[in-house]
Amino acid sequence: MTKCPCCASPRIMSRNHGRTVGGAVGTVGGVAGGVASAWRGATAGASLGASAGVIAGPAGSLLGSIAGAAIGGLVGGAFGCELGTRVGEAVDENLLDNLECLSCGHTFSRSS
Ligand SMILES: [Zn+2]
Repeated sequence: MTKCPCCASPRIMSRNHGRTVGGAVGTVGGVAGGVASAWRGATAGASLGASAGVIAGPAGSLLGSIAGAAIGGLVGGAFGCELGTRVGEAVDENLLDNLECLSCGHTFSRSS
C-alpha cells in the first residue's frame, strides 16, 4: 500500500495527467492520420472506378470516399488513443509526480 511520504496517509490518488493527455493527443493524431490515408485510398479508388466506368457515377464515388474516410478515422482514432494512452502511462510512471495525497495535497512519484 502506497503511503504519503509527507504525512503517511494511505489516501492516495493517481492523477494520470499524462495518460489523459496522451490518450487525447493520440486520438486526434490517429483520426487525422486515419482519415488522410483512407481519403487518399478512397480518392484513388474513386478516380480509378470513374475512369473505368465501373462505379455507379459521381454519387457512388462520393459515398465511397466518405465511408472510407469515416472508417479510416474510427480505426485510426482507436489505434491512436491506445498508443497515446500507453505513452502517457509511461510518462506518468517515470516523469511526472503521478500520485497525490488526499489528506495534505502533497504530490509525489511512485519511486520516491
Ligand atoms: Zn500527505
